[in-house]
Amino acid sequence: MHEMSITQSVVEICRENAAGRRVLAVTMEIGELSGVVPEAVEFCFAACAAGTVLEGARLDIVRIPGIGQCLDCGMEFPRGSLFDPCPGCAGYRISQLSGEELRVLDLEVEDLPPRTDTA
Ligand SMILES: [Zn+2]
Repeated sequence: MHEMSITQSVVEICRENAAGRRVLAVTMEIGELSGVVPEAVEFCFAACAAGTVLEGARLDIVRIPGIGQCLDCGMEFPRGSLFDPCPGCAGYRISQLSGEELRVLDLEVEDLPPRTDTA
């Protein structure tokens, strides 16, 4: 299941950005055409987060629909697969506008009390 390794790298990215602070929530963008199943990421997240600063963090997944634009007739249309032709002219010269996203969008970390040391 490749969602496990993807989720692991997401947890890694969040740990680096949190720099030791506890992570309260993570927002991820997953495109419909990214090949990643959001439910599987949700499932893996708790396991990957366990024992890290992300333990118990909330995972919000923003799903991005696949949108393509035909380079021949200019039509924009929902595209559930990278192999779908243009519904307007049946052409295959299509620019993918969205749907391939796979990234961490936002991270909510715990506020630390101001440091008293000067190092
Ligand atoms: Zn077209």
